[in-house]
Amino acid sequence: MDRPPLGDVQDLATLAKLDETILLDEIKERYQQNKIYTYVGDILIAVNPFKDLGIYTKEFSTRYQHIKQSTHPPHIFAVADAAYQALMGNGGRPPGNQCVLISGESGAGKTESTKLIIKQLVELCQGKTQLEQQILQVNPLLEAFGNAQTNLNDNSSRFGKYIQLKFNDGHVAGAKISEYLLEKSRVVRQNPGEESFHIFYYLFAGHTDGTFGLGDPDTYRYFSNGARDFKKRLNSLQKQYDDLVNAMDLVGFTDEEQMDMFAVIASVLHLGNVSFKVNEDDSVSVTDSNGPVKTAAKLLGIDAAEIEACLTCMVTVTKGEYVKRNYNKGQAEDARDAMAKAVYGRLFGWIVNKVNCLLVPENQDPDAKFNEIGILDIFGFEDFVKDGGKNSFEQACINLANEQLQFFFNQHIFKMEQEEYQREGVDWKEIKFVDNKPLLDMFLGKPIGILSLLDEESLFPKGTDQSYVDKLTKAFTGNQYFVKSQQTNQAIFSINHYAGKVTYAAEKWLEKNRDTLPPGITEVLQSSENRLVKTIFRGQLTRTGSLALQGRMSTSKGTKRRNLMPVSSGNDAAKRKLTVGGQFKNSLAILMERMTASTPIFVRCLKPNHKKQPGVLDTKYVLAQLLYTGMLETIEIRRKGFAVRPTFGEFVEKYKVLVDLKLTPSAQNCSKILTTARLQGWYVGYTKVFLKYRHVEQLTELLEKVG
Ligand code: ADP
Ligand code: MG
Repeated sequence: MDRPPLGDVQDLATLAKLDETILLDEIKERYQQNKIYTYVGDILIAVNPFKDLGIYTKEFSTRYQHIKQSTHPPHIFAVADAAYQALMGNGGRPPGNQCVLISGESGAGKTESTKLIIKQLVELCQGKTQLEQQILQVNPLLEAFGNAQTNLNDNSSRFGKYIQLKFNDGHVAGAKISEYLLEKSRVVRQNPGEESFHIFYYLFAGHTDGTFGLGDPDTYRYFSNGARDFKKRLNSLQKQYDDLVNAMDLVGFTDEEQMDMFAVIASVLHLGNVSFKVNEDDSVSVTDSNGPVKTAAKLLGIDAAEIEACLTCMVTVTKGEYVKRNYNKGQAEDARDAMAKAVYGRLFGWIVNKVNCLLVPENQDPDAKFNEIGILDIFGFEDFVKDGGKNSFEQACINLANEQLQFFFNQHIFKMEQEEYQREGVDWKEIKFVDNKPLLDMFLGKPIGILSLLDEESLFPKGTDQSYVDKLTKAFTGNQYFVKSQQTNQAIFSINHYAGKVTYAAEKWLEKNRDTLPPGITEVLQSSENRLVKTIFRGQLTRTGSLALQGRMSTSKGTKRRNLMPVSSGNDAAKRKLTVGGQFKNSLAILMERMTASTPIFVRCLKPNHKKQPGVLDTKYVLAQLLYTGMLETIEIRRKGFAVRPTFGEFVEKYKVLVDLKLTPSAQNCSKILTTARLQGWYVGYTKVFLKYRHVEQLTELLEKVG
């Protein structure tokens, strides 16, 4: 009856009545009024406006500092503010480490949200130090190398990242970036309508004078779809190039390093133009020894003949004798592409590593413990079949990461909370949620799991994509999450993900999982005269991945150990190294550990339509996103539940001043404080007090009056 006008509700958890239609109507009306943000308790829903709303100015930033959530319209800056306040021991959230977990489909606005949060955090700590200024430049830098235009998003992140900002006394004391699964394959091939990583286009715009031997951008094979209106975009690309150089300067990359980086980027393009001819004896050789191979070799600091050799044949040692085996044309082309991907992947890894080194103040004790705010921006859920493409190993990993994140969300929002109510004797009617644990088990199980079986098959000399799918089918027939293909002659299978059914083509999974370079290539790159190339390939085995965390973040111990390993490795070493799937599994586990050690804040980004269009909200599409993320159940638990749960001790300590400073921690005294404060709807359990956010705000107001 006295329901507020549609679109006026800032926190959906305060609605008296809720169903799909009400939820959707509220969000739609708000979106139409340019109110893209809405709370569900402490969770923020953000709908991508696809236009500049003018709401991230200095004025807004100031407005959202040290605030009470309910007194201001929902905003992404408020999320940063809440995390910062909690870190400083203020506000209603538990103090200590915080993490902001941002999820949503590709193009929903995760990366923009990440940047806005970091921007606001820097504002909150005044942002005057060099380190704080450096941190603002990290995103533009990483985006140049790790983002690309795709059919879903013009600035799509092709890697996942977790940024940890460490604070000391309210100021940033260091930062660390962990990077996940860079989509290296984009370097050599792009789907119709898509582009390679931005950096390749910046390269041309910034070096029009023919440096690095570059010619017309339309002549490079690694631009699968041509250079796409390069001339028309030149001005804006030049500006982006300048911004990038500026960012690299500010973060601390030297001029020499920058030139080396551009040289390596250029070498990749030249490498792509290397072509092969078949000789009379069926061996292959590089078509033009004075052509692109020579330019690439020069830029990489390697002998062109060595590149030619390692791309056209392999030499193995069998029983002490060298045996040379010629490649056919297809194999030579594969070797070339593998080399290009490895060079790019290693370069990206090096950049992240370098940034991490630059963001730790020199005189800082590396083991010093600081409180931190972590921000997770992973790749959203993907299904390329919808767009006429195929889902491969990368999509499986990406979707697995999203499942893991959804699991973490469920754990926090539903499981742990409801278990606590039960333990504490709260009168509570259980809210059901869709638990995706069995699906995670199917992926991560050992020895029977999608990834474990892939590892097994990758090591098995006779393993094929088909034999892998056969094994999966045998292991998971009857599992409700696994759908075997009707066409048994095709290496495909489907998984019922929380966000929908996805069909995967197992083509090349074994190869992608092994991720080994053809023999000889690593050695050739290691022998480079170029500082940067030498550095990025130094002491490495055949691994070409860019999977970060343990490998990338390796302590000196790890690096040393790797240096001691023989460079020329036989099968043994190749077997010992972790597969891509194995590494990804480990990095996910580490990430979960970090997140578990922090208090999470969730940001749910929604994509309003498929066309990157402002002002258009496709209700069916938005509803689907709301439903598969469990938003209805989430609102339900936020409406009925208690998001703030201090112990008697914590509660009495903080609020006794409202009644009597002599109060000791007990259920009775907690009730006394709450009754005196005239609050309603709280609950006192066996050891804890159960409150809603509004209670904390009301109590804080009272404290302010007293104090
Ligand atoms: P995701 O990281 O989820 O794939 P992005 O954060 O890259 O998506 O957003 C895709 C695009 O949507 C951005 O390049 C930008 O044009 C637009 N966008 C996203 N969030 C906002 C916002 N808050 N305001 C204006 N435009 C936005
Ligand atoms: Mg992104």
